[in-house]
Amino acid sequence: MLFRRFIAISALVSLLASGSFAQETKPDVPAEKPSAAPVKPKTTPTPAEPAIAFNSVHVDGPFIALTFDDGPNATLTPKLLDLLAARHLKATFFVVGQNAADHPDILKRAVREGHEIANHSWSHPNLGKMSDDAVRRELQKTDDAITAAIGKRPTLMRPPYGSITARQKKWIHDEFGYRIIIWDVDPLDWKRPGPSVVTARILKETKAGSIVLAHDIHPPTIEAMPATFDQLMKKGFKSVTVTELLSMATPIPPKPTPSPLPPRALPIASPTPSAPPPDSTPTP
Ligand SMILES: [Zn+2]
Repeated sequence: MLFRRFIAISALVSLLASGSFAQETKPDVPAEKPSAAPVKPKTTPTPAEPAIAFNSVHVDGPFIALTFDDGPNATLTPKLLDLLAARHLKATFFVVGQNAADHPDILKRAVREGHEIANHSWSHPNLGKMSDDAVRRELQKTDDAITAAIGKRPTLMRPPYGSITARQKKWIHDEFGYRIIIWDVDPLDWKRPGPSVVTARILKETKAGSIVLAHDIHPPTIEAMPATFDQLMKKGFKSVTVTELLSMATPIPPKPTPSPLPPRALPIASPTPSAPPPDSTPTP
């Protein structure tokens, strides 16, 4: 009798218990599902997606990339190649397609001497304001001219004036395989401020991992390069091509967060906010 009653009670208890659990958990399931569902697809592509555009690179050594845009120029680019060769420095040339088509010999020489050739559009327009088809033609014609000159396709592009939309970056990368290279050091040499100013600006702003912008179509820029190169080398910098610099990229160490520190350490951390961004004014 007693035993039977015990069975009946315990059966009732377990029924009630499972019932109450079901009631407790059930509302949670549908509530979680809609919020959990969109998170999944978000988290999977993000870590797999490689960076496609760069202003500078985080590296563990004194490496920088010197880049020269808008050439090649019949006289100035060979002069620059002489200056680079004398110092065993490597550079990257973002060439304008129509100039590349005019001077394939200069591109050949640059590659022979260890430099990199990259796409800077055919006619130097503002890509950010153009249709996809027009951008595609600008890049393809230049890609063809470079390939005809040096026998291999470029893998980097730089938009004139640094003007490019996020959407363009994506489709250009998908379609051409290019990585998009901007810069973090801009001496505004195209304004021809004088060679010593160009040198001073580059030396002041350049740090490890920098991508330095200059133009091999302005005589004062070329005049500024011997002193610029020598002083950069004196500071210990080693110039490599952009592709080499990208291959050296190391993860950016996490910034010290104030949370694990005791509250009194907070005032020390707060007066040093992130440094002002480098002058990223778009220039030709
Ligand atoms: Zn340019």
